[in-house]
Amino acid sequence: MIYFDNAATTLFKPECVIKANDYATRKLSANSGRGSHSASVKAAAVIYEARKAVRDYVGCDEVIFGFNCTDMLNTVIFGTARRGHVVTTVYEHNSILRPLQELKNRGLITFTAVEPDRHGVIDPRDIERAVRSDTYLLAINHVSNVTGAVAPVAQIGAIARRYGILYLVDGAQSVGYMDVNMREIGCDYLCFSPHKGLHGTQGIGCLCVKGNPPLNAFKFGGTGTASNSLEQPTDIPEGFECGTLPVAGAFALIAAINYRKKNAHEVRNLAYLGELMRSELSKITGVRLYGKYNVMPNIACFNIDGMDAAVVGDILNEQYDTAVRCGLHCAPLCHRYLGTLDTGAVRASLSYHNTEREVEFFVKAIAEIAK
Ligand code: PMP
Repeated sequence: MIYFDNAATTLFKPECVIKANDYATRKLSANSGRGSHSASVKAAAVIYEARKAVRDYVGCDEVIFGFNCTDMLNTVIFGTARRGHVVTTVYEHNSILRPLQELKNRGLITFTAVEPDRHGVIDPRDIERAVRSDTYLLAINHVSNVTGAVAPVAQIGAIARRYGILYLVDGAQSVGYMDVNMREIGCDYLCFSPHKGLHGTQGIGCLCVKGNPPLNAFKFGGTGTASNSLEQPTDIPEGFECGTLPVAGAFALIAAINYRKKNAHEVRNLAYLGELMRSELSKITGVRLYGKYNVMPNIACFNIDGMDAAVVGDILNEQYDTAVRCGLHCAPLCHRYLGTLDTGAVRASLSYHNTEREVEFFVKAIAEIAK
């Protein structure tokens, strides 16, 4: 099977990640921070090392673990909520838009979703123009999961600082695919899922915090700390990690980060493959490729004239044994902006294990389908 649905989750996992996950599942998965026996202490040491690995990797001060990126984005959006206004973009995934809509439905906030310029690029000046006197949060997707558009996150960071606004970056599609450093971006919160670009395992999400920004509890429960109190502890990270932590996922995450650091050359190969895929697809008559400027090359989002994206996906699956994502990519405002709410769009997303032969096969398949 050709797997081109890496933006959803990466199917291929490096051997070191699989081994780390297996080993930790068998030997290390006691309950971290919940006991003084040696198995629990060992599990806590894994969590400690995983936090350290993530801190070094993205340049943050604290790391909160949860289930996935959605969980972490909810933690920030509900944990910072107050009466006021939020600036976001039409590129956001529903994991940002739906929490914002929920806060709006509760009558607490309003939000503005900024559109990109005519090249599909978010202009920081438009973000600044959307800021109001009651704006308290900027919530920005680093890389669009639909078109691959890259947001100017560092320039937006300068705006956040100038106006004293909290700044959340959704790194779901950037971490692991490019250098993401919170110091350079200047954001307060960065969320991502190791199961995507880092080729880690599913079931663990990271909320990285820089400095000491406000955060109220979003989830409530046992933390293994201050257990004599009915009140949720407020310290980061423990107060925000309720229940049993994914120790095996954390151990696999350490392996995944080490692997990514050692194999930096793969990033260049992926860029080459992605450029090849995008340029070959754009030559096919009847193929309309979305997102031209400032996009991550590993994502190609397109439609074939006169065909529903779901039909293209079915043909690819059934006749070419190729997995892509079709339909609406959990990003309704982006599809409205692209004019693809009715048809959906086909998204082919590559990762490090994909090959030039697979890309050639895929491009040929699309050319045949487009005929
Ligand atoms: N944000 C973006 C931009 C995404 O692409 C995704 C996953 N498609 C998410 C957030 C949510 O990630 P997860 O499924 O790991 O919660």
